[in-house]
Amino acid sequence: MLELIGLRKSFGANQVLKGVDLSMNQGEVVSIIGASGSGKSTLLRCINWLETPDKGSTIMVDGRQVGHDDPARASRRDLARRRTEIGMVFQHFNLFPNMTAIENVMEAPLAHGRGTKPEIRALAEELLARVGLSERMTHHPSQLSGGQQQRVAIARALAMKPKLMLFDEVTSALDPELVDEVLKVMKGLAEDGMTMLFVTHEMAFAEDVSDRIIFMADGAILEEGPPSEVLRKPRHDRTRSFLSRAM
Ligand code: ATP
Ligand code: MG
Repeated sequence: MLELIGLRKSFGANQVLKGVDLSMNQGEVVSIIGASGSGKSTLLRCINWLETPDKGSTIMVDGRQVGHDDPARASRRDLARRRTEIGMVFQHFNLFPNMTAIENVMEAPLAHGRGTKPEIRALAEELLARVGLSERMTHHPSQLSGGQQQRVAIARALAMKPKLMLFDEVTSALDPELVDEVLKVMKGLAEDGMTMLFVTHEMAFAEDVSDRIIFMADGAILEEGPPSEVLRKPRHDRTRSFLSRAM
């Protein structure tokens, strides 16, 4: 359902992604680990088209490619569709501060005409219940804890009914006691069959929920496989030394 072929991305002379090949099946849960600066966030941002990949890179979602040979020439309509197919949650939740939790969740489906207002409200209530926030629907972000805000952000991403969810270190800005409530929500999504790609420093969580772990180094995939191999029996010295610091 997701296929990356020779994905490259440069910022000026700095080539940050050096030809990443990756394919994910429907319902698969994949975690990306790797040192700071190895290109993990850039990879997610390219998939969601927040960054334009270099010419010659291919990103297909459900067999459809955006921009063909030259991603920079993608049409606005292709990009808009791609962004609604893929939900992304960031380290900093970026909720709209002047809207309540439920208004945050309703915003995108309303803007895209995904139903009547009562229908969208019902969907938002269902999603906020799913992330354990039925009691907080009319609170503003400033009245919510970091963990609660992050769960609103997950509900907001789900409101567009994405085919794929991307998570970039969504717990690393949270106080330690708030991390578990967010991981629990993501584990629930995995169990419900959502296709998910995580960047995470939570090794125990990655081991628990992932079908596959990818270790990135210097803008390329160095090693990948089931958690029992990559985390427990890494083949490369660099993976081993990364894990000895991270686990
Ligand atoms: P971290 O674990 O610290 O989040 P990362 O693996 O997510 O690191 P990226 O954020 O993808 O790493 O960054 C990879 C490289 O790309 C870094 O050298 C960074 O400075 C560079 N980079 C990222 N975004 C930009 C940008 N918009 N302009 C210029 N350089 C960038
Ligand atoms: Mg990053």
